[in-house]
Amino acid sequence: MNLSDQLSLTAKENLTKTAYIFNDEETSYRELEGAVTKFASSLKELGYEKGDHIALVVGNTPHFIIGLYGAMRLGVTVIPVNPIYTVEEMAYIMTNGDVKGVITLDVLMEKFEYLDQKVPGIQHYIVGATSPDNDLSTSPLAEKISSFEKLTKEGSLELDRPTLDEEDTAVVLYTSGTTGKPKGAMLTHKNLYSNARDVAEYLTIDANDRVVAALPMFHVFCLTVALNAPLVNGGTVLIVPKFSPEEVFRVIKEHQATIFAGVPTMYNYLLQYPDEEAKDFSSIRFCISGGASMPVALLEKFEQRFNIRLSEGYGLSESSPVTCFNPLDRPRKAGSIGRSITNVENKVVDENGEEVPVGQVGELIVRGPNVMKGYYKMPEETQATIKDGWLYTGDMARMDEDEYFYIVDRKKELILVGGYNVYPREIEEVLYGHGKVSEVAVIGVPDENLGEAIIAYVVVNDNQVTREELVDLCKEKLAKYKQPKEIVFLEELPKNTTGKILKRNLKHQLQQ
Ligand code: AMP
Repeated sequence: MNLSDQLSLTAKENLTKTAYIFNDEETSYRELEGAVTKFASSLKELGYEKGDHIALVVGNTPHFIIGLYGAMRLGVTVIPVNPIYTVEEMAYIMTNGDVKGVITLDVLMEKFEYLDQKVPGIQHYIVGATSPDNDLSTSPLAEKISSFEKLTKEGSLELDRPTLDEEDTAVVLYTSGTTGKPKGAMLTHKNLYSNARDVAEYLTIDANDRVVAALPMFHVFCLTVALNAPLVNGGTVLIVPKFSPEEVFRVIKEHQATIFAGVPTMYNYLLQYPDEEAKDFSSIRFCISGGASMPVALLEKFEQRFNIRLSEGYGLSESSPVTCFNPLDRPRKAGSIGRSITNVENKVVDENGEEVPVGQVGELIVRGPNVMKGYYKMPEETQATIKDGWLYTGDMARMDEDEYFYIVDRKKELILVGGYNVYPREIEEVLYGHGKVSEVAVIGVPDENLGEAIIAYVVVNDNQVTREELVDLCKEKLAKYKQPKEIVFLEELPKNTTGKILKRNLKHQLQQ
């Protein structure tokens, strides 16, 4: 099975049900299924066939869903790209990813006028309209441009569907990667379908659910958890074009959302939002956190304030993404990413790939139908990452006696202070525990005497908080070698569009 064929089956059973809501307008499964087929047949008319690559560079709009499912229906591989990437970043992905065409929006076309000179092989730009005023007939790329709306409206409903093999690549996700250039994780139809199904089963996402999609759709967390999982089950996706606490609270109330999925920084913003009256989560069954570690203090405060369960999970692009979640039918453990989800195995191993005893820290490795085929055109990187069918995540973890996993930190974030291993997360948790610290990032910097020293960057939500207070807290809770050499106050921490704190940028700033 694959997502595209499953959508057709789901649509048949739920013709009049709402598939998604965008700007308060509802679109039924019948309409979505029709748009997907018409878009696919128009792509075919344009000369696309199974195996071609198309980039999908749109924000959180219905173009993303129709573009993704339409291309998949034809067996065309989709490369979702963050629309705020620079021309350089996009050009790298489009060249490396052998892109034949681009699905994008009118407001982004100025960028593509530059990009087209760098990647002249792009044959088509399929451009969605965000406003009737954006006339593209005078664009220098006019000859390559087709209207997304026209293709979706005028395409045929008679489509000779190719057979999709479960091992065919459905999407290529370029992961940011901390070293070298981004790598394209090839996710097959089986990978995407199985993870959407397994997540839905584990978290009981069904046709009655209305899931808030406020995370960026180009990111795998949103793609599987907030789009594919509800769509294969006949649920409703509530599209939030751009995250803001105000809009999230509004959409939840207006459309009686049942599930909210976000990264920890989003929960922080929701908690801090000053309009207490607007903060109504009563229709929500549970919240999902992932993408980065959820500070225990934030998790507890959030659950208390909203009287709701917040279930943390874990995943990565290379595993489509979900591997672990705190199960709903057992106690959730704060600070844990939960247990292996349906059909997926997780294991903690030492440097030789041997499983370590319960409670010991090692690298987390993963096996299951969700694990990628490999990195596009990078066989060596693939071999270094997938060994004997196990995906090496690069994250250090431990497992407890109830088979709950805990991410200790990223392998590469480990700080070596005078020969001791220090995982930044431990120090971050202590500082979050202060109560008035809203964001923390701990990094290691070169130190003449100790090899590396620890610096903690903090953002506080009360300017009465002093450095001494935080130093004392660290002294009370941490062994001497784990105490930060410096604590630096910042207004804000650098983050990427998925809300992950960019420690690289902090290190870079410090070097400068
Ligand atoms: P990406 O491929 O962009 O989804 O990033 C995957 C990485 O995010 C993982 O390898 C982890 O380092 C991190 N990550 C995701 N979820 C969690 C979590 N719940 N706790 C800690 N780190 C996480």
